[in-house]
Amino acid sequence: MLSFRLIQSRVLLQLLLAATAALAYTRLSDASLARVPSGDDDFDATSGKLLAPILIPRVPGTPGSEKARRHFADFFAAQLPRWIVEWHNSTSVTPATGDEEVPFVNLVVRRDPPWAVAEGDVARLTLAAHYDSLYRPEGFIGAVDSAAPCALLMHVARSVDRALTSKWDAMLANGEVGGGLEEEKGLQIIFIDGEEAWVEWTDSDSLYGSRALAEKWESTSQEGIHSTPLQSISLFMLLDLLGAAEPRIPSYFGKTHWAYQHLAAAEDRLRGLSILETRPEPHPFLVDNQKRSYEFTRGFVQDDHVPFLERGVDVLHLIPTPFPAVWHTMDDDGAHLDIPTLRDWAKIITVFVAEWMDLEGFLPPLQQDGEKTDTRHSKKDEL
Ligand SMILES: [Zn+2]
Repeated sequence: MLSFRLIQSRVLLQLLLAATAALAYTRLSDASLARVPSGDDDFDATSGKLLAPILIPRVPGTPGSEKARRHFADFFAAQLPRWIVEWHNSTSVTPATGDEEVPFVNLVVRRDPPWAVAEGDVARLTLAAHYDSLYRPEGFIGAVDSAAPCALLMHVARSVDRALTSKWDAMLANGEVGGGLEEEKGLQIIFIDGEEAWVEWTDSDSLYGSRALAEKWESTSQEGIHSTPLQSISLFMLLDLLGAAEPRIPSYFGKTHWAYQHLAAAEDRLRGLSILETRPEPHPFLVDNQKRSYEFTRGFVQDDHVPFLERGVDVLHLIPTPFPAVWHTMDDDGAHLDIPTLRDWAKIITVFVAEWMDLEGFLPPLQQDGEKTDTRHSKKDEL
């Protein structure tokens, strides 16, 4: 009986540790907040290395779409080689293109802890944005929809990459790995194709890439705590329509309001330390920090999270309500972006990711101006 109880309490301990690991979220110190990079002129609409190359029409199956994909893949290959790159291909007919099968290509990049664990033992914070642009009007750019969010995700990956390496190296050196008692934390970014409707938004004419990916990940089995790649998503954080001034981002889901509050706290602390450039009035970007559980309704915005939400994945949706005034017009271009707002988003989201990944103490100092200039020159061809 005694040994049975011991076994029971060990199981309980394991469950408790797993739950603690899933919820662990360590605030950055003020000193670390000051180290979070803004991306500087990488978000410039005409010359920014992250953003400018994808401010082009990116209709699925066209050369612009291929060019955007290459931009992401080349960036990770050249600057973030530790990230694993995975392509996810599907095809579909659309109401605008007749019998022709249009290709939809999602790009998934991820970093998992370097020690050997079963694929399913890693729970991944998953950030996503769509990179396709509207089929009509012809020549539509889609700067906030969603080239700028894609550039933000590239920036976030770059901003935490060294800290992830340092943290995991330190854990290995201290023998803190391989206990097998808790799931490991990974980070994953998805550049999604085919979000837009070709004719009119319906269940079948929209979300081509995300529907195919969620279906694939639900039906793929893997070893470990989480039996599918879908279950390995700890939080699906979707960015859309970001880059216009004075956004108002509600908290859409009671279930993930705790994560929203962490993000809102990051914005609040960064503003308190005068680290952000914008001074939005009368409310911050994230308006719903004080929202109560009974205030949540079933209303939400249709977007790439839906196929994941329907399958039980926790979702944090960063999309403004109301939409930016330029939404689905020819004015949604680089000239109408508010770059200080973008740089502030870059910081806020990087802080959230760094806190989620427990990177306190591991963020490298910001490069000095002179040093930065040198690095930029030498990195000029890397994109
Ligand atoms: Zn759109």
